[in-house]
Amino acid sequence: MPADEILISETEIQTRLPALAAEVNAALPDGPVHIVMILKGAIIFGVDLARALMRNATLGFLAASSYGAGTESKGRVQIDTEHLGEIEGRNVLLIDDILDTGHTFAKTIDILKSKRPASLRTCVLMDKPARREVDIHADHVGFAIENHFVVGYGLDCDEAYRTLPDIRIYAPE
Ligand code: 5GP
Ligand code: MG
Repeated sequence: MPADEILISETEIQTRLPALAAEVNAALPDGPVHIVMILKGAIIFGVDLARALMRNATLGFLAASSYGAGTESKGRVQIDTEHLGEIEGRNVLLIDDILDTGHTFAKTIDILKSKRPASLRTCVLMDKPARREVDIHADHVGFAIENHFVVGYGLDCDEAYRTLPDIRIYAPE
């Protein structure tokens, strides 16, 4: 299988989650939080983190797609806000799977800020800082990784591998 090299084990993920949740909780203002996940990659990490927060929370979703083929966003990102929920005046936590070039995250943050949340914090499961093209960072990062294309725990390759419990390096055969 082209994805049999484990980069981050299920145990490592499940060990990191409560520590990350505690870090996010400490940074979030008291009271209700609106948790926004970027479909589809963020959902498995997003629901695990959302439950670990143990807060009064509501959920919203954004769908991001890059046009053109291949695995790179190249700055041409389209965002669907139909299931985003109310943002204005609320404390918002944005969750994504992986911060790569930064185009998706930058555009998403612009959209959220334009809707005037009371506060906005951002959290990603993984960060690939070496790949950044836009000057942007996440407030909270689960794991910083090297420049690999990874799958599992929500991340796909052509929609496959999302339900793997761990993160694996995808190496085409
Ligand atoms: P960016 O706009 O930062 O380049 O891309 C972010 C999006 O590209 C992520 O939300 C994710 O959907 C996808 N992406 C970036 N790197 C990877 C990777 O290593 N594996 C997978 N499966 N998707 C990735
Ligand atoms: Mg994504």
